[in-house]
Amino acid sequence: MREQTSPICPGCHDSASTPFYRVPAVPVHQVKLVPSRAAALACPKGDIELRFCARCGFVWNAAFVVALMRYEEDYESTQTVSPTFNRFHERLARDLIERFDLRRRTVVEVGCGQGEFITMLAEIGGNRGYGFDAVHRYGEGSDAVTFVKDFYSPAYAHLEPDFVCCKMTLEHVHDNGAFLRSMRLAIGDRPETVIFFMIPEVTRILELRAFWDVYYEHCSYYSPSALARHFRIAGFDPIDVWCDYDDQYVLIAARPGDGANPLLPNEHPAAALAPGIKAFAEGVAADLAAWRRRLRQLHQAGHKTVLWGGGSKAVAFLTTLGLDDEIGYTVDLNPRRAGTFIAGTGHAILAPEALQDDPPDTVVVLSPIYLPEITAQLRAMGVDPRSVLSVERPALPIAA
Ligand SMILES: [Zn+2]
Repeated sequence: MREQTSPICPGCHDSASTPFYRVPAVPVHQVKLVPSRAAALACPKGDIELRFCARCGFVWNAAFVVALMRYEEDYESTQTVSPTFNRFHERLARDLIERFDLRRRTVVEVGCGQGEFITMLAEIGGNRGYGFDAVHRYGEGSDAVTFVKDFYSPAYAHLEPDFVCCKMTLEHVHDNGAFLRSMRLAIGDRPETVIFFMIPEVTRILELRAFWDVYYEHCSYYSPSALARHFRIAGFDPIDVWCDYDDQYVLIAARPGDGANPLLPNEHPAAALAPGIKAFAEGVAADLAAWRRRLRQLHQAGHKTVLWGGGSKAVAFLTTLGLDDEIGYTVDLNPRRAGTFIAGTGHAILAPEALQDDPPDTVVVLSPIYLPEITAQLRAMGVDPRSVLSVERPALPIAA
């Protein structure tokens, strides 16, 4: 590590945190479009040192350097090329509209990306939508939504929204306490307003020792309990906190208040996460060694292995393991990624059709929720690898 990291928790400011996982020199960006192998190998890098706060249960990368981050137009994070994700996204929009009676209301999305979700919320519910995004290309095409290329802040308190949502953003925010507090100020003391967040869930990452879900852009990691606790600290009263999408995501709904409403049934003390932290810390090195050994053996035996997915998980999997020729290439459904390269390792990202020209023996799938979609597409293309395996349930490769 380049320098000593601070033990102070960005969420609750306690200083008794413990480091438990380190990965040096990983790409700071996972989903920028990298045009050449040389650029991929030379990409900016930073270190990961995950710390656990025993007071609030928060997990974060204490080696994160915010100044390294450049979220620009070449940042390609959309998940809406997958039919599985799109079905989930629309179900989520309909559920939120139903549950919080979002009809003819004012709805705000913070970090709206290309605006798919705020457009659904606005159009399905007949709502007035505002999509905020300070860095991404913003959407177009719906009269019901106004896109604002800015951070949502107290300067927009006059919008007086009935619903504010923020998906897949807080995990990128280092000073999460200040971020939540700013949201609280922007909403003001309007007790009927509902705030909704969705981010990756850390308990599952710990249980699966899912090192492919730990990467530089994600500096903040939450369990349901820790997320609720940080909402309380920021002056929100949690209404519900739950998991979805194969339990990969934690979702929370809350209202402005003083954070002192009764605990939800699934809000546990911070110490409840400690055994998971310990098990991850003790087991992950052996997992990494086993993956490296097995993938090397397969490669030496002339067996071709490819990864399905060229996004964040693929970058984390390849760079954390330090893989090279062991993986032939990666494929990705997102046409904007085809022809680009994996940051850090330089593996090619190709369209799935490449599998027809250069058929693999093994396809490694980084997210099992996509397995049915992927096996159907392989069948449709006439590609029949010896094995299609999920990193979460590795039937074959990590035996010694
Ligand atoms: Zn803390």
